[in-house]
Order: sequence, then structure tokens, then C-alpha cells
Amino acid sequence: MMGHTHAMTGAIAWLGLAPGLAALPMVMESNRFIETGIMVNALSPAELIAGALICAGAAMLPDLDHPSATIAQTFGPVTWVLSKAVNWMSGGHRGATHSLAFAVAIGFGAHWLASSYPIGRDIMVVLLIGLALRAIGIGIPGNKAGSALVNIGLTAGLYAVFLSLGVGYAWLGLAVGIGSFVHVVGDCMTEKGCPVLWPMSVKFLLPWKIGIKTGKKFEQKILAPVLSVAIIGLLFLRLVPV
Ligand SMILES: [Zn+2]
Repeated sequence: MMGHTHAMTGAIAWLGLAPGLAALPMVMESNRFIETGIMVNALSPAELIAGALICAGAAMLPDLDHPSATIAQTFGPVTWVLSKAVNWMSGGHRGATHSLAFAVAIGFGAHWLASSYPIGRDIMVVLLIGLALRAIGIGIPGNKAGSALVNIGLTAGLYAVFLSLGVGYAWLGLAVGIGSFVHVVGDCMTEKGCPVLWPMSVKFLLPWKIGIKTGKKFEQKILAPVLSVAIIGLLFLRLVPV
């Protein structure tokens, strides 16, 4: 599946699930909760949007196992080296990172960072915002260094905006786990499938060869516009008061 398809399905998953998740105690506690003591709908609009972006970025994480993919160039050499390391650890493309175990582990890891290690949390947030922006095609075509600079600038700007709006990251682990899992489900819809139960090597894919062919007409001309409309619709539903 292409990067923007993964990123958009990640954002959709968050926008669809967030109001329900906001009722979870502790995991979703936000600044607003501390102020008002009201747990339901504890996510502020800024947190909803930050979460959508971070879930979209997390939906790119499994493909960091592919150093020659565009997202490996998000922050230039920094993400390329990270991608090389992920590729080595996961045993190549579509290995360990394309599994349920990875989604759970990275989700708990992010939750741990969010609750006890603020610098690590901020590094993860910045990485995920950058991956999401890169995945939806923000950059200068044919200019690697320029694209990395644009990404760094926009990511820093968004991070600062979220900070000024008092976005809390108690939900980081959930957003990261959900985003990574959405990626795995997405790749199971393709003709190549995924080792969902890694370290077991059995591949999960759609039967009768009906899986999506990555980057072909269906994904580009039909799926991408449908997903875009779904995101706009969900944003409208969640943020516009009726
Ligand atoms: Zn993948």
C-alpha cells in the first residue's frame, strides 16, 4: 500500500475512535480533564487533530523497515539511519514491523514515554508528525535536502502550535498502537499480505487474489479520493457543533 493510503486510514481510525476512547480513564486524561474533572470528551479539538496527525504518522512506522522508501527521507539522514536500523532489526521489508506484536509493543512503548520520559515523548511526537506530513506528499519533488528542510520547519511549527494550545499526550500510546495496527490491516488488503502473527511466518492476505495492487489505478483514483472525503467528513462531524 502507498504511504498516503496508510496515513489517511490512520487519521480516519483516530477521528472515528477518539470520542469513544476519550472515556477511558487514565489513558486519555488531558489538561481539560484536570481543569474540569469531566472525563467524557476529555479530548480538546486541538488534541483530536494532533491525535489524527500522530495516528497517521504511526500508520507509517511499519514501513520504516524500507530505507529506500520516501518516508525514510523525512528528516534526511536522521530518518534514513533510523530506517536502516529498523530494516536490520525486523529482518527486511514486511517482517516484524508488520505484525500485531509490533503494534502492541510500540503502543506500550509510546505510552511509557508519554507517562515517564518527556524528552523521548517529544522526539516520538516530532517524528510522527514529520512522517505524516511526508506521507501525504509534502516536500519538493526531486529535492531531497529541500524536502527534509520543509518537513523539519512544518513539523516544528505544528509541534509549537500544539504546545501553545495545551495539547497533552496521555493518549500517545493508544494513537501509536492503533496507527501501527491500521497499517498492518491495510497491508493485509494488498496482494502481498502481512505476517500478522510474527514471529510465526504465516502471511495474512485476502483470498482469491482480490488484494489491492499497490500504487495502481484503484488505490490512486478511487481509494485516495474516498479516504480524503472520509477525513473531511469526520473532521466536520467531530469539530462543527450542531
Ligand atoms: Zn507496509
